[in-house]
Amino acid sequence: MIVYAIPLHDRFRGIAVREGVLLPGPAGWGEFCPFADYSDAESAPWLAAAVEASERGWPEPVRDRVEVNTTVPVVSPDRAHELVAASGCRTAKVKVADPRSSLAEDCERLAAVRAALGGGGAIRVDANAVWDVDTAVSAIRELDRAAGGLEYVEQPCRSLDELAAVRRRVDVRIAADESIRRAEDPVKVAVAGAADIAVIKVSPLGGVRRALEVAEASGLPCVVSSAVETSVGLAAGLALAGALPTLDFACGLGTRSLLAGDVTSDSLSPADGFLPVPRRAPEPDLAEAVAADEKTRAAWEERLARVHRL
Ligand SMILES: [Mg+2]
Repeated sequence: MIVYAIPLHDRFRGIAVREGVLLPGPAGWGEFCPFADYSDAESAPWLAAAVEASERGWPEPVRDRVEVNTTVPVVSPDRAHELVAASGCRTAKVKVADPRSSLAEDCERLAAVRAALGGGGAIRVDANAVWDVDTAVSAIRELDRAAGGLEYVEQPCRSLDELAAVRRRVDVRIAADESIRRAEDPVKVAVAGAADIAVIKVSPLGGVRRALEVAEASGLPCVVSSAVETSVGLAAGLALAGALPTLDFACGLGTRSLLAGDVTSDSLSPADGFLPVPRRAPEPDLAEAVAADEKTRAAWEERLARVHRL
């Protein structure tokens, strides 16, 4: 197995270095990289996803490429403009409601993203469940204006009841992310009345097949997103996006550019806003260059063993 540690260009989700483990198997490579705040129990589906990729491989795809959004972390308007213009994507996902950014700064960042995308592009935002209902309603109206129209807002509040209340009061579509992936049983979450779109992720849902079940059970159009994995993990996300019966929105799988390196020279970076659907994960031929130090390696070996025993 390989333990990697790769710096991020800009802090994202509170982290500056992405770490994880790559596992080899007869079907190829799998990636195990739960964030530091995930408990062992919450990390178990991440291991199941890695084992699916390495032992079993993925179901047959129904499409060979997937449109993706570019992701804009909490950065200055100039940096946001630069990131979007360099991406080649027609859709941008912008992080908002972060403690390091005010609503006014979020609006300035969105205006810069709109300037970079032009009128034909789509802008979505992610609030990661931090607002209450009233704050969400007023913030969404302001952000929608600043962006010149939002495609959707992802997880404005924590609970499904709150999402449903916000959804009744704003015109912008609501997408559910944490409500699905951190649910006790993601297949049983009654998300349809509370959201217009389901965000689904391979690693926290326990693999491509399991995520396909969650997608079907949601009864909603789906957006497949990454958990900021290396190209090994991104390949699994693309396998899911490739196998979904319908795919109406760009996926959140263009996150390779958030990382300052990769484990493979066969890197899954979008070209003209699209990524190919791979048959198996790429070989980690550059793993040496991003190998974690001894201490980090030991910590991941221990974590993997603990989750394995569950
Ligand atoms: Mg999200």
